[in-house]
Amino acid sequence: MRKSVFSLLILVFFIISSTAGLTSCSRKPDAQITTFTSMNTYMTVKSYGKKAAAANKLVQDEIERLESILSTTIESSDVWKINNTNASEIQISAETAFLIEQGLYFYKNTDGAFNPALYPVIREWGFTTGDYKIPPEEKLLQLLDSTDFSAVKITDNSKIIRPVGLELDFGAIGKGYAGDCAIELLKQNKIESALLDFGGNIQVLGCKPDGSYWTVGIKNPWPDKIKGQEDLLPVVSIKIKNACMITSGGYERYFSGPDGHKFIHIFDSKTGCPVENNLASVTIICQSGLYGDALSTSLFVMGEEKAIDFWRQNPDFDFVIITNDQRIIYSASLDKSISLLFDFTSVQIIE
Ligand code: ADP
Ligand code: MG
Repeated sequence: MRKSVFSLLILVFFIISSTAGLTSCSRKPDAQITTFTSMNTYMTVKSYGKKAAAANKLVQDEIERLESILSTTIESSDVWKINNTNASEIQISAETAFLIEQGLYFYKNTDGAFNPALYPVIREWGFTTGDYKIPPEEKLLQLLDSTDFSAVKITDNSKIIRPVGLELDFGAIGKGYAGDCAIELLKQNKIESALLDFGGNIQVLGCKPDGSYWTVGIKNPWPDKIKGQEDLLPVVSIKIKNACMITSGGYERYFSGPDGHKFIHIFDSKTGCPVENNLASVTIICQSGLYGDALSTSLFVMGEEKAIDFWRQNPDFDFVIITNDQRIIYSASLDKSISLLFDFTSVQIIE
């Protein structure tokens, strides 16, 4: 009996995984797959239709254009200019100004859980270079002084006014915004069916070419805890169309301290430290990549109770929370589209 259940799980796994990540689609002759690395992420664009190859190329160019204005390391980018000047007023593009305004909205609405001004803190921990260290508390307190994102203003002609020392990083919304721009471009180019996988940020346009929904997996967020079921095995799958499914978790980008303690790349803006809570991953399912990306990071920072409260106040998205003790909590309207591929210790459906 156990063996047949296991075989069934393996079968399901092969059905829902594909070359583009944890997704499936029927192989049509006109599928065009383009892969490239941008925004420090391996990206896949899969689209269908006669003009798919040309459209994919436009998407790649668009993502590279966005990277060139939003990157923290490309020296001509808007973000680099902001982070590397002593001026308090800096001219930026309308697009960067738009993202900053979105950032201000999320900063306010998540009570600071979402904070694009944590860059100096994140750098101090070594996440920008890979040269990791645990900074002393006094240093963190000093750096936190310049992370009040609400002090930022945007003028009508796209200038940012900010306290000198405040530095930005769009790591938590850049890929979601890029996905929205990519979907828009594909639509303009008459593509009706496509899937983007930007490092685990999945965004789909339409249905699969055969008219069925896309099946998208949520990765096993405890790859080191389950013997024989290493990282690729999805623990959940969800059927979606015209939507995005964006996950934040601490299981891919982290470093271990001398005693093996894990420090992850998502930060608590109140303490200046990597988030420590019982969440393994948070997935948001909604219409906008930017919204989903901002909220997956924010709800991860909030932790279980506050995240659920936030959803109750703002129920315009769906969520799946997976905890370190292998529980799953999800919003009720997913009930028809979700499949559990793992024996969770508890399943909680939130209405
Ligand atoms: P990923 O980009 O790995 O998919 P996220 O979307 O959750 O994951 O974004 C994490 C990135 O966002 C970090 O690498 C860092 O650059 C930035 N960041 C970390 N903590 C926060 C936070 N509390 N608010 C906004 N951005 C953050
Ligand atoms: Mg995010």
